[in-house]
Amino acid sequence: MSVLAIDAGTTGVTAVVVDPDGSIAAKGYQEFSQHFPHPGWVEHAPEEIWQATLEATREVLAKVDPSTLTGIGITNQRETIVLWDRETLGSPRRAIVWQDRRTAEVCDRLKAEGHEDRVRELTGLRLDPYFSGTKLTWLREHEPHTWALVESGRYAVGTVDSYLIARMTRGTWHVTDVSNASRTLLFDLTTGDWSDELCGLFGVPRDALPDLVPNWGEVGTTDPRTFCGLSLPIAGIAGDQQSALFGQTCFDPGDSKCTYGTGSFLLTNTGTKLERSDCGLLTTAAWRSPAGETTYALEGAIFVTGAAVQWLRDGLQIVGTAAETAAIASAVPSSEGVVFVPALTGLGAPHWDPHARGTILGITRGTTRGHLVRATLEAIAYEVRDVLETMPTLATLKVDGGAAANDLLCQVQADQVGVPVERPRIVETTALGAAFLAGLGTGVWDSTDDLKETWQLDRRFEPGGDRAALDRDYARWQQAVERSKGWALL
Ligand code: ADP
Repeated sequence: MSVLAIDAGTTGVTAVVVDPDGSIAAKGYQEFSQHFPHPGWVEHAPEEIWQATLEATREVLAKVDPSTLTGIGITNQRETIVLWDRETLGSPRRAIVWQDRRTAEVCDRLKAEGHEDRVRELTGLRLDPYFSGTKLTWLREHEPHTWALVESGRYAVGTVDSYLIARMTRGTWHVTDVSNASRTLLFDLTTGDWSDELCGLFGVPRDALPDLVPNWGEVGTTDPRTFCGLSLPIAGIAGDQQSALFGQTCFDPGDSKCTYGTGSFLLTNTGTKLERSDCGLLTTAAWRSPAGETTYALEGAIFVTGAAVQWLRDGLQIVGTAAETAAIASAVPSSEGVVFVPALTGLGAPHWDPHARGTILGITRGTTRGHLVRATLEAIAYEVRDVLETMPTLATLKVDGGAAANDLLCQVQADQVGVPVERPRIVETTALGAAFLAGLGTGVWDSTDDLKETWQLDRRFEPGGDRAALDRDYARWQQAVERSKGWALL
């Protein structure tokens, strides 16, 4: 018995098969293209996400016996919105990605009209281009011909989980879960359902949205004709960050994790209680059980962390791979005053400035690529410290995600926040969370206690360094952040 999990991330799709002991038996991965049609815009082709899903799944199926699989779990980049034709399953346009800033003006307009407080009260979110709601408002206003077919019911609207489930089931199912729904600005956290008031505000027909299903338990079955010959129950769904929270076995109130992927996301389980923050954290649904009980979380969402490393690789082309950044940065003793604020798609928590842009300060004639690479890794740690400064002190910081493989980053992080950083053996906790959900839904595991026993430590990074010097460096970072704010408005 084992489960298949699909992690449809921002950079690529990972497929894993997870055994009952929580280990990864096999893995497949396929990257897909990022489209940047204008400065600040980010799009993905839905068909490419689907093809990458098939490719990653085929890769993993070649390494295991498919007859042992009990079910499939799906986790996905959140907030990104996809439209597709309910009949043909083709998409009329590319997906607008969570990082896309095109709706900054829509947000400014809604704020000026006085909607922000009410939106925060209902959704736990903010009026920021990050979330799906204003992306749909933008489509409605700029692509009326497409939108008319959303209104007529021909096109379905959904997040990437909904889209993949539609593709896997040949259009039979149009569903999502509360972890994804609660990122759209259309979901009322207190009623636990889509909100007519919010649908009205953002101009989205409620009928175009998916039905809500629990995070684990069988939903539908994949169609073998389209999905690699597999007829498997879809038994787990969660947005990537809530999935990582589940994968790190953060089941109890106060349990926290920080995932370092394209962005970084710090989530704290707050149990069945809705907690709100005045310091720039979001309130979000973590998961809903088949019995209907919802668990919530507080979240610090940072948009660009691993993506800054990707930019060093693809944009500046000063590193060949993300993995070599640890060695390149370790070759210099410090960043020697170079500070990089990677506000490449604005700033998220705790600053929330969609008009901020990336800033590099302190360059001299002696500055080398080593300094800039080190400044990039330090920036990731500073960004996470910015969020942690708004929260009660943690005993330890549990980390995961692609960039958590970077030892230098983990050490700088521990030094900066002054608490130990713990990295589990498996850093693909996003995929693991989806596997856990699907395994709970199909009887591979009976309870969350069973899952807790699978968590294993890889390495613990103890905080060290000169506290006063570390705080001075952090103060300089804070000044640099102030200078990056509002830049796109100048
Ligand atoms: P996502 O799920 O958002 O696609 P992943 O968890 O797969 O992200 O992590 C990929 C990101 O992590 C990329 O942005 C990449 O630049 C970064 N990354 C991967 N390995 C390292 C590393 N060793 N050091 C620093 N960054 C890394």
